[in-house]
Amino acid sequence: MSDQPRRGHVLAEDGINWLDVWKLKIQPEQITITGGEPALNPDIVLWCQLIRNAWPQCHIVIQSNGSNLKRSQIIPALAQIGNITLLLMCHHHSINLGFAMFQDEMVKAIDADGEWEHADLTGETALVKLTKQTACIKIGIQETYTRPYNGVGPSMRPWKSQSPETSHAICATPEHPVLYQNKLYKCLPVANLRDTLALHKLDKNAAWWDYLQYAGYGPEDDLSEFFADVGKPNQKTCTMCSDNIALCQFKHYELGNVGQKITIYPSWSQKTTNDATL
Ligand code: SF4
Repeated sequence: MSDQPRRGHVLAEDGINWLDVWKLKIQPEQITITGGEPALNPDIVLWCQLIRNAWPQCHIVIQSNGSNLKRSQIIPALAQIGNITLLLMCHHHSINLGFAMFQDEMVKAIDADGEWEHADLTGETALVKLTKQTACIKIGIQETYTRPYNGVGPSMRPWKSQSPETSHAICATPEHPVLYQNKLYKCLPVANLRDTLALHKLDKNAAWWDYLQYAGYGPEDDLSEFFADVGKPNQKTCTMCSDNIALCQFKHYELGNVGQKITIYPSWSQKTTNDATL
């Protein structure tokens, strides 16, 4: 949801109360912190420490586009948090055009903290892997993204899939439940739906009513229905998404697909813009 024009961040102060309750209800093997952009959250280190305290054994992944790495305190904190991966994804449609410059920027930011060693890439989807004690940084490329909604901004509508099974098979997050504002949701697009629609003044639009019935599961709710639904196509919810990958999957930074924020890496943007007209 990083292309949605939102401001603010989720406070770690709120997270203490949430995680204190949820640690008694669920035992995840892995927790991924995603966004927006987690490295922009000034509380990111505190969030990792809260998760580590709540679930000492779980693997933590921070999924970042690397845009705030130099200012964020996360890299020096990784080894102390332990059992953690910082996943830095270059959002570009071509490994040749964007990745080398992205990698250069990332490695400079990581080197400032020192003592990171290049690790074996066998069996990895990442293109670069650095390790230090119990922490790991992976750098990779995400060439495509899937739009869970048809259109953008005020013209956003459900795709109205005829086959929830197919939609679920091609969507970006079929098996990843989300904790969002102290409720559990089937997936990220569903968790974000109400806030995204409100942002575009669509939360009263009849096209979305059916999908807004999914209200998430709070700590006091019976979670058996939620657990039964996670990782499976839902005959109501998953019709929100597309069953045609040619319609809903886009290449990053191809003409008209996404607005580029040239303030993040001015040199990188300038060079790649010559090759990929924006
Ligand atoms: S609603 Fe279903 S198909 Fe759409 S993103 Fe969520 S799990 Fe995937």
